[in-house]
Amino acid sequence: MYVKIIDRTNDNTLYRQLQATEEKVILSYPEKERDSNGILKKYKFLGYYGVYPFKAYDTNYNYSLPFLKGYSSKIIQGYDGDFSHYGAFSAKTIDFDMKVGDTITAARDGIVVRVTQKHNKQGTSEKFRDYGNYVILYHEDNTFSQYVHLKQNGSLVKVGDSVKANQPIALSGFTGWTTVPHLHFGVYIPTKTGLASIPIMIDSIQGKTLKRGDLISKK
Ligand SMILES: [Zn+2]
Repeated sequence: MYVKIIDRTNDNTLYRQLQATEEKVILSYPEKERDSNGILKKYKFLGYYGVYPFKAYDTNYNYSLPFLKGYSSKIIQGYDGDFSHYGAFSAKTIDFDMKVGDTITAARDGIVVRVTQKHNKQGTSEKFRDYGNYVILYHEDNTFSQYVHLKQNGSLVKVGDSVKANQPIALSGFTGWTTVPHLHFGVYIPTKTGLASIPIMIDSIQGKTLKRGDLISKK
């Protein structure tokens, strides 16, 4: 995790890499303390996942399709899709058609860094984005993968778990900003303003070639 520290008085910005154990220290600044009040008045702290500065990642990594062997799925929306796949965070992500309750698997070995599974709401406008349940995995080259719209209480893993590629990690659902049940999947790198989605190779297919209506099966 790293923190972006903005000096409110002159907009100077600093980046500090934190060790995992320090994360707690920053987040638990007691606001009632006079000193930390002063700090918070002068500085704005924004925490981001990952390492900063971010150097390089494995651009040739072949991700696994995020569902079970033998499963077939239709692409609902590919990269730069005009329904919701725009902006740095979402542009290079893929929507796979999946029914509620179908099994989602890890696209790569990793560590579970975030699980949100309490929501049970869905809607067709962007304001429902925050109601999407999801799992985020952290990978060895400092990238992350995210699996969104999970069923309520549909995570099969918890924060801190190590997972292997193709291991079941969640049940697909119908939560958040979406019109049909599906899995929204993306891989991300840390940037100065948070995570940004990146193009990947998945099951030996370049992600950018996957288009709405394509049917893909996992062998
Ligand atoms: Zn999507």
